[in-house]
Amino acid sequence: MTSISANLQAVGERIAEAARAAGRDPGEVGLLAVSKTWPAEAVREAAAAGQRAFGENYVQEGVAKADALAALGLEWHFIGPLQSNKTRPVAQYFAWVHSVDRLKIAQRLAEQRDVHLPPLNVCIQVNVSGEGSKSGVAPADLPALARAVAALPRLRLRGLMCIPEPTGDAALQRRRFAELRRLRDDLAADGLALDTLSMGMSHDIEAAVAEGATMVRVGTAIFGTRDRAREAVVAGT
Ligand SMILES: *Cc1c(COP(=O)(O)O)cnc(C)c1O
Repeated sequence: MTSISANLQAVGERIAEAARAAGRDPGEVGLLAVSKTWPAEAVREAAAAGQRAFGENYVQEGVAKADALAALGLEWHFIGPLQSNKTRPVAQYFAWVHSVDRLKIAQRLAEQRDVHLPPLNVCIQVNVSGEGSKSGVAPADLPALARAVAALPRLRLRGLMCIPEPTGDAALQRRRFAELRRLRDDLAADGLALDTLSMGMSHDIEAAVAEGATMVRVGTAIFGTRDRAREAVVAGT
């Protein structure tokens, strides 16, 4: 067994254990393997171990990998900050975008999504940590944005995503994830039902699953520690 396949198995066990502890069916929690900065060969190895969904943060890097591995029929998720001048390749190559945080981006994705492709699945990124973090719509502005995005053609609003501030404080992790779940429940009470909570990363999988995550986005625990210098170069492209 390669280390990537062993890591995938260990992450799967963490998810299943956390789900059982929360009285949830482990099958409700999907795993998105975050392959940013790792070469196509690492993705190929994970795919050989059965992993189908991969997350990328940088447009050119993600498109290059999706192209190189097109024959594998993988599902690509864009999870990074998205500038409006880079939406076109994202609309073309990805099945999901988790990081929509303003209407202009969603409108461009809707315009640019090919009518012959299935609708682009989107999540709205919410800033649940307040001032400290930069990306994501403020919770107070979420309902209006969600309604506007849900009304766009060629997009399918699936849920909410968050990246709380990194912390080892398990109670704080739980509070942030609980906040995203509450926002999802409020939208549902208002008639906008969403099936996806994209939350939890390598260090806080357990807290996210305990609070209802349906998709955890895991990089380091699968592929290893990213090279910061390389990440800075890739991020600049
Ligand atoms: C990098 C990244 C992840 C994965 O983080 P790890 O700590 O490596 O598991 C998840 N989500 C987003 C948005 C990321 O940028």
